[in-house]
Amino acid sequence: KLHNTILELKGNIRVFCRVRPLLPEDGAGSESSVVSFPTSTEALGRGIDLTQNGQIYPFTFDKVFAHGASQQDVFVEISQLVQSALDGYKVCIFAYGQTGSGKTYTMMGRPEASDEKGLIPRSLEQIFQTSQSLLAQGWRYKMQASMLEIYNETIRDLLSTSRSGGLDVTRTENGVGGKQYAIKHDVNGNTHVSDLTIVDVSSMKEISSLLQQAAHCRSVGRTQMNEQSSRSHLVFTLRISGVNESTEQQVQGVLNLIDLAGSERLSKSMSTGDRLKETQAINKSLSSLSDVILALARKDDHVPYRNSKLTYLLQPCLGGDSKTLMFVNISPDPSSVGESLCSLRFAAKVN
Ligand code: ADP
Ligand code: MG
Repeated sequence: KLHNTILELKGNIRVFCRVRPLLPEDGAGSESSVVSFPTSTEALGRGIDLTQNGQIYPFTFDKVFAHGASQQDVFVEISQLVQSALDGYKVCIFAYGQTGSGKTYTMMGRPEASDEKGLIPRSLEQIFQTSQSLLAQGWRYKMQASMLEIYNETIRDLLSTSRSGGLDVTRTENGVGGKQYAIKHDVNGNTHVSDLTIVDVSSMKEISSLLQQAAHCRSVGRTQMNEQSSRSHLVFTLRISGVNESTEQQVQGVLNLIDLAGSERLSKSMSTGDRLKETQAINKSLSSLSDVILALARKDDHVPYRNSKLTYLLQPCLGGDSKTLMFVNISPDPSSVGESLCSLRFAAKVN
């Protein structure tokens, strides 16, 4: 029996669950599987059971990808959603889960192996291809990319080439001369982040070098500030404006691809000083995100977008006729079962 049976699709919010394969580095005892998949036809491909201390916890989502699902298998299921950004929709795709559960693999993948590319490169490839094929029907598209990181409620520009390295003013030591990265939404629902680098892109080659630059920027920041990418949210944004030369029809779409900070709770002994501040910031923004999605699903009058930088940044792309997909990434490692249960409960709540 499924006690977490999903209701009819609530608005435009969907949740997909992905379980990564067991890795050699997973803990001892990983022979005993804690993740299983119900085989009844109605739950096939949508159900996942977690076993903790002999107790089975069943969950159902819009889709469940088991260990064997390839990057292409996953992409096939989101390609329509990606396509809708070209039709003028605002789209957000999130990866949620504890560190090591496969969020970055799902979003970025292994760029060095072409069949292991993640959703970001695959989505962009498809968008460029489709925009090319729509040329014949008179469509001309302009695309702009930006990439930022939110760490402890401060923004960092991952495409900045300036000497401040894209640091938010609040993170520079003396607090002067840095960038502001103030978020503003205009009446047309467009978001502006002051000082943020926006790059015109028209080919996959340009995108690949941006992704490389961002990865480099992220790793440099890590050693300088002793932070880990797992403690920050990564937001990739592609703005698409299309105009049809013969019909003069116009569309404005946005595709946001977000690799969220690790959802794990830190052990008590580690939760002091900077670590405590960091954990509180992460918990605050992840719970703000779920509060926003829940309020949207319930069609509340008030949606608390302003409670975190992440939800405020994405405000125009969450709600209205925008489309949201959340991946909940799960590790099959038995030592992670507690965190996996937390992740599935979080996802079931917003689903
Ligand atoms: P996270 O970003 O959630 O911290 P990662 O994406 O870095 O986790 O994944 C942790 C490890 O597991 C990495 O070595 C990654 O390559 C591997 N991994 C994750 N998902 C898969 C998958 N579906 N297939 C193969 N390896 C995976
Ligand atoms: Mg990661």
